[in-house]
Amino acid sequence: MSRRRPFDPRLLRRVPATRRHLAVLGLAGVATAVVVVLQATALAAVLAAAAGGRLDRTALGLFVALVAVRAGLAWAQGAVTAWSAAAVKESLRVELLGSVTRRDPAWLAGQRGGSLATLVGRGLDGLDAYFTGYLPQLVLGVTIPIAVLARLVFADWTSAVIVAVTIPLIPIFGALVGWQAQVATERQWRRLSRLGGHFLDMLRGLPTLRAFGRAQAQVDVVRRMADAHRAATMRTLRIAFLSALVLELVATISVALVAVPVGLRLLSGGMTLQVALLVLLLTPEAYLPLRAAGSKFHASLEGLTALDEALSALPDETPVPAGGAVPRRGPIVLSGVTVAYDRTTALRDVSLTIRPGERVAIIGPSGAGKSTLLALLLGFVRPTAGQVLVDGVDLAGADLTAWRRQVAWVPQRAHLFAGTVADNVRLGAPDDADVEKAAAAAALDEVVDGLPDGWETRLGERGYGLSSGQRQRIALARAFLRDDAALVLLDEPTARLDAASEAAVVEATVNLLAGRTGVFVAHRPALLAAADRVLRVEEGVVTELTAVPT
Ligand code: ADP
Repeated sequence: MSRRRPFDPRLLRRVPATRRHLAVLGLAGVATAVVVVLQATALAAVLAAAAGGRLDRTALGLFVALVAVRAGLAWAQGAVTAWSAAAVKESLRVELLGSVTRRDPAWLAGQRGGSLATLVGRGLDGLDAYFTGYLPQLVLGVTIPIAVLARLVFADWTSAVIVAVTIPLIPIFGALVGWQAQVATERQWRRLSRLGGHFLDMLRGLPTLRAFGRAQAQVDVVRRMADAHRAATMRTLRIAFLSALVLELVATISVALVAVPVGLRLLSGGMTLQVALLVLLLTPEAYLPLRAAGSKFHASLEGLTALDEALSALPDETPVPAGGAVPRRGPIVLSGVTVAYDRTTALRDVSLTIRPGERVAIIGPSGAGKSTLLALLLGFVRPTAGQVLVDGVDLAGADLTAWRRQVAWVPQRAHLFAGTVADNVRLGAPDDADVEKAAAAAALDEVVDGLPDGWETRLGERGYGLSSGQRQRIALARAFLRDDAALVLLDEPTARLDAASEAAVVEATVNLLAGRTGVFVAHRPALLAAADRVLRVEEGVVTELTAVPT
């Protein structure tokens, strides 16, 4: 675990909006420091004159004006920092979501969606306290002590020395307590994201949990996790209060160290009243911003922890090979391809050629590596060894987005999004696409006719409200919409269909394959009959069958 720095330099690189934010803070910080010093000088003059029975009108006028300027500065700084904090958060969110969509599906499969959602949503909101509270105070914690010290050197250098020696005590003590707080906050944050991830998982699996009588047990688990999160929150709060107390104590003692000698020298006549007043007015100002920064630090720790996670989740370089070659319609050649996952080797040294226009069926037991073979052609999975060449272009260095535009894909479990049926079919297709024709081809029209609002029927998350056979037809309709696709990939398209719709889908699939290259996982004889070649995959090894099995 790295110690949380007050400022993460990666921010400047990844989020250019931060630079403007810092520039604004710097300007406001310098202006405030100058005003603070002038204000104390004016007030000391007013008070010293009043003690002598006079009224220093110029100094009083200046003091009143400076009070107004300082208030105006504080207000403007608050408004501008709030605005630029929102800009920084927005660009972080955009970057984060953008990088997630560019990731390989294999990376996403290893993530817990819930904790990513917690991070992008609530997690980054924690940065508000950092950008509008802690960072401005930190800047003031540099500019004001410097300005105060510069003024004190001219007024009374012994006081200046005492302030210069005691001021570093505040950040030192702050850091000592801060490290404790950081350990507690990180624990708190991990608990929160685990809670988010678990809750999402549980909601998705609720029907399964109900069926197996585990719903109540899961409720107890969530309750326990929420309880642990509450305890962790209380722990961080305790440390935050302790830290405020320690910093207050250090600052008070330091001010006393300056005030006592000043008082004695004033009594003995070694110092004028005006200088003594100036020193007494300025000294507390020097400690104030650092002390305030210390207490704001705790409020922003959660945001800083989320920021660290967000910056670490962003890949250093965008993995998209921009401007890579675009494979065209042509032979697909796998040469010596091996795909190894963490625990299993899904494909072993596979070499094969698929000629344009060929229809290749893939059969084999479940877990043999069939889906991996399709994922390889989509560029979702990269070979651990060997190459996949399309039209002579290695997919590893190709423009995958352009390549996927030429591929129509029907996965085993198509993902449907919360939205209307029409939107789900149209996914990614141009506006003028003929959705109705595609639906008819995929035997989806009869399904749509039976829905309460037809095409405008709204589906729940993950297509809730449709049977698996109905969802499969939506996925098929999506593929039919891509009538310019050169390659069609299907993963058991008829697996969830009854006999009547199977016949319709097979007929439509054969039409879809006409004039295109097709690779499809199939077991039913009806679809196998449409194949020119049949490949058998078993334990990652691909063999060519000479006779089509019946
Ligand atoms: P099939 O489609 O023939 O059922 P798959 O290609 O899905 O087989 O899987 C082949 C093997 O690779 C299986 O042992 C499976 O557990 C493993 N596998 C598939 N996808 C992944 C993944 N993303 N991470 C790790 N292992 C995987």
